[in-house]
Amino acid sequence: YANIGGVLVGLLFALIYAMITFRGGGPVREIADGIRRGEFEPYYQPVIDIVSGKLIGCEALVRWRRRDGVIPPGRFIPLAEASGEIYPMTLAVMTKARDDLGALYGRLPHLELGFNLVAGHFDNLDIVDDVQRIFDGSPIRMSQLMFEVTERQPLQNIARARVVISRLQQLGARVALDDVGTGHGGLSYLLKLGVDVMKMDKMFVDAIGTERYSVAIVDSLVKLAADMRLELIAEGVETFEQLQYLRQKGVRVAQGYVFAPPLPAASFLQLADAMHPAHETRAAVDADDA
Ligand code: C2E
Ligand code: MG
Ligand code: MG
Ligand code: MG
Repeated sequence: YANIGGVLVGLLFALIYAMITFRGGGPVREIADGIRRGEFEPYYQPVIDIVSGKLIGCEALVRWRRRDGVIPPGRFIPLAEASGEIYPMTLAVMTKARDDLGALYGRLPHLELGFNLVAGHFDNLDIVDDVQRIFDGSPIRMSQLMFEVTERQPLQNIARARVVISRLQQLGARVALDDVGTGHGGLSYLLKLGVDVMKMDKMFVDAIGTERYSVAIVDSLVKLAADMRLELIAEGVETFEQLQYLRQKGVRVAQGYVFAPPLPAASFLQLADAMHPAHETRAAVDADDA
């Protein structure tokens, strides 16, 4: 009877899934169609070295460009995840980013390009194979890539996620724990996952200049990152006051509206060229960095 129960529950889920998927014009079907039509496109938010003021890379943040407007990820990622469309969507975003930024990144090998992944991507090595396939032969090197795993969602299997992370690192990429301080994993993820970078959530940056106790959390995260020898990136920096505070605490890297919002490819390329003009040769950049 246990078997029959299992089969019935399975059928019920399959039925619900089919109803969601195949309802004419249903949102999941729209996402699949949108991927086929190439409507999911990355915007790029500049990442800045707040000590030198230099552009050191960007984070790819997906947008859904539809006839009725540009839709932000918060409105479709959860659905794409529930239906499995997140996987082909992620590959589409990486492929588009490779094509948008290949020339720039080939010219400026010190720039880094970050992608957001979801917990499901860390369950097996498929994503590693696909990343290699997408970037193989492109001017963007694996050592220029960063992959972000969010702390907002629980990972199914930490040991397996650790394997995926190690493989990405062996290939030369860096891995960041995103939204640190907001989620499930907390300190245990920092200990177990072996990430290179910690991204402090905007929520804590917002606290700068407000409540005393929240700022204490910023200070602790900065110290934690330093003690663990992790790079710290502050997210969502909007004011000079926040920037000044972070700099004074020894934070080196930040992104936020105080510099720029996520930009469409053409605007990001313009900005990158203004900050690193095309005549600036690779040798000059390397000498400058030394
Ligand atoms: P995230 O990875 O933590 O990205 C940072 C979010 O903060 C982005 O929102 C960005 O636009 C926003 N942000 C950056 N600076 C500021 C600021 O100064 N002020 C304010 N108010 N907001 C700022 P966005 O683009 O809406 O993305 C939201 C989340 O959706 C991301 O959070 C990430 O978790 C997810 N996401 C975005 N693109 C992708 C993707 O390609 N794949 C996956 N799996 N998730 C994605
Ligand atoms: Mg992120
Ligand atoms: Mg690197
Ligand atoms: Mg974040």
